[in-house]
Amino acid sequence: ATIRLVFVLALLCTIGIIGTQVFWVKSAYQLENKDFNLNVNTALRNVAARIWEINNIQPLVYNVVERIEPNYYIVQVNDRFDPLMLEHLLREELEANKIITDFEFANYDCMGDSMATRHYVKVSGNNEEYAPIEVFPPLKRENYYFGIYFPHRSSFVSQQLSMWYYSSIGLLFVILFMAYVVFIIMKQKRLGEVQKDFVNNMAHEFKTPLSAIQLAAGVLKQPEIVNKPQRLLSYATIIDNEAAQLVMQIERVLQTAHSDKGVLHLHKEKFIWQELIKDVSRSFENKVNDKSAQLNLSLPEAPVYFFGDKLHLRNVLSNLIDNALKYSKENPVIDIILENRKNKLRLLVEDNGIGVAKEHQKLLFKKFYRVPTGDVHDVKGFGLGLNYVEIIVKSHGGTIECQSEKGKGTTFVIEFNQKRN
Ligand code: ATP
Ligand code: MG
Repeated sequence: ATIRLVFVLALLCTIGIIGTQVFWVKSAYQLENKDFNLNVNTALRNVAARIWEINNIQPLVYNVVERIEPNYYIVQVNDRFDPLMLEHLLREELEANKIITDFEFANYDCMGDSMATRHYVKVSGNNEEYAPIEVFPPLKRENYYFGIYFPHRSSFVSQQLSMWYYSSIGLLFVILFMAYVVFIIMKQKRLGEVQKDFVNNMAHEFKTPLSAIQLAAGVLKQPEIVNKPQRLLSYATIIDNEAAQLVMQIERVLQTAHSDKGVLHLHKEKFIWQELIKDVSRSFENKVNDKSAQLNLSLPEAPVYFFGDKLHLRNVLSNLIDNALKYSKENPVIDIILENRKNKLRLLVEDNGIGVAKEHQKLLFKKFYRVPTGDVHDVKGFGLGLNYVEIIVKSHGGTIECQSEKGKGTTFVIEFNQKRN
């Protein structure tokens, strides 16, 4: 629960940080834009002032600079002037105001009511494509004016923000790294839980035979037991059996630890699936009756031959039936279905038990994995069965899949690609 809280908080923080960063970049961009406008205004006003000085005329008192479009300004100058001189002045003043980007300008001719020749001035070293705007629209103004157009304004403004971009990229890396760390922590936590569960299971699994042994030993300690050889023998037998049980279980745990390293010896032989299935279900007869369960076989008529390790495949089937009985409700019904298609062999073990929720279905095959039941240990096991089953099925070139709906039941589907043999 705390981990989840931390996770949510981290997520909120991340969203907050990204939000702030976006906000800052945006306002920095707006600021740069404003700055651009301000500098252009100053530069253009200076240009106008210098023209008046050179032409020796009365300065205009109202706003001489107008921003028509974000990229387009006009400047009213009230007199004719030489375009070459204008270019010179513009270059000087714009540079002085740190506007280092290409521009294009044109004079408006009051008399002809049209824009005179346009001049494109390349300033920066960039090779950006320039798509000239159609025309400088002649605007109705009383005066002579010139228009100036900045084709690369937005990229010029963006360039001023490079610091911000770098910091954003840095931030992104930090966030990715954080996400990775969180991911690792979650994984470790799950691993830790699985291990804890395993230790718990093991303790429970070992406790039952050990208490039986302890009980029997208690009886054997009574002095008068020597006079009752019958009882002595039966208690010794209990100890023997339970100890054997323990050894077997330890053997199982050790064996899976070994099978990790991938050494698995298969003794393949030809056998008939129907025989194997009938054989296994017979061995479950007692358990099935105890649980008042029902075990249905649905097998094809024609014998289905297979080349594989009979012993291991037998264990596979017993594990699946064992699970179907263990994880069931009252009156379990188990169907074992064998289908022999063109070149696919399918073996289904279907039950109407407690089912497995979607999020656990993929994990069942992991070693030691058991669907968490809290602290209730009513069903015993190590979580090794399905791991073993998967190893055996895979080593026969097959696949296994769990289809289940919680509360409804579970079907394990094993598929072998059947080479005709
Ligand atoms: P063991 O090692 O003794 O077989 P186990 O039965 O707990 O122990 P697996 O057979 O690997 O281990 O099964 C893993 C888990 O999958 C089980 O603990 C159970 O939660 C779930 N499970 C397996 N089969 C079924 C089933 N038929 N229906 C519902 N849950 C199942
Ligand atoms: Mg099992």
